[in-house]
Amino acid sequence: MKRISLISTGGTIASRWQGTGYAADAGGDTVLASAAVPDGMEVKVVDLFNINSSQMTSEHQLALLRAVREELADPGVDGIVVTHGTDTLEESAFLVDLYHDDPRPVVFTGAQKPLGATDGDGPGNMYDALQVAASVRDLGVLVAFDGKVHAARGTVKTQTLAANAFGNPSQPEALGRLGFGRVDIRRTAERPAPLPPPVGRIPRVDIVMHHSDADPTLFDAAVEAGAQGIVLVATGAGNATPAFTDAVRAAVRRGVLVAVTTRVPAGPLAEIYTGGGAVDLVAAGAVLTGTLRAGQARIAVLATLLAGSGADTGLLRRLVAAPEQATEKTTSTDEKAAA
Ligand code: ASP
Repeated sequence: MKRISLISTGGTIASRWQGTGYAADAGGDTVLASAAVPDGMEVKVVDLFNINSSQMTSEHQLALLRAVREELADPGVDGIVVTHGTDTLEESAFLVDLYHDDPRPVVFTGAQKPLGATDGDGPGNMYDALQVAASVRDLGVLVAFDGKVHAARGTVKTQTLAANAFGNPSQPEALGRLGFGRVDIRRTAERPAPLPPPVGRIPRVDIVMHHSDADPTLFDAAVEAGAQGIVLVATGAGNATPAFTDAVRAAVRRGVLVAVTTRVPAGPLAEIYTGGGAVDLVAAGAVLTGTLRAGQARIAVLATLLAGSGADTGLLRRLVAAPEQATEKTTSTDEKAAA
């Protein structure tokens, strides 16, 4: 008998009509009851909170991290499933992944259609996530959604409404596939060494986006608002303007940790251009975030600051380092083997 802990946090998978719109309101037991449970599995439900994930805060995410660790403290638990709204799932999953130091998996899932929808995707995603949680080892934190398994790192929400909601645009081949009672893991993803538990107060970390006409007014406002970290969403491979370069330099001198990502969906950041490009932003003290996009780049900045050594650019560089090209690995687990 496999033992899985299901941590319920809300999202569309737990959402019902409220008269004017949908909102999360069903507890984990109700969400679980909407799905079939794979044979040979016992599921314990932990109702952590019940929110739509656009309301997620760092406080919620650190509570989720603690809840995951509490469940994994029981050696009889084989794996964890987290149900989560899809809007910020990539942020929470990546945060848990940065600290995850256990061979047992943490598998995030959710739905694009609400609880009880006749054509809903929640029950299938739940079944798949439970099966992955009972089957795999040493893959870190995963996202099981629409018949695919993704590594937390690099995965983003790529569709607002379609069932095929997640992917890594820089690495389009998913980690694995699900279907007909099988979990086929095709490769592993590189992860940095797990962080020690977070310390200190939650810092303010803001995201500011560059665009035609942009000046650093909002970037400077973030510094004035007390941001200890800022993610600049640059254009192209990490480019902005000379005025942004000056603003980044001034912020770094004040002890702010500055990361640069891009608004382009796929590909790495690169030091190519001067004149306010990534060459100058790096010279001003910013860190390029590899292939991480804004939400996860912000989580990397947050986790760096929560490591307790301030604006540690070396640590941030380690957390954002682009994973090595996928290593081939083929593991196939059928439902019976999982049981
Ligand atoms: N707005 C919802 C949320 O993130 C979307 C979803 O769960 O799919 O909670």
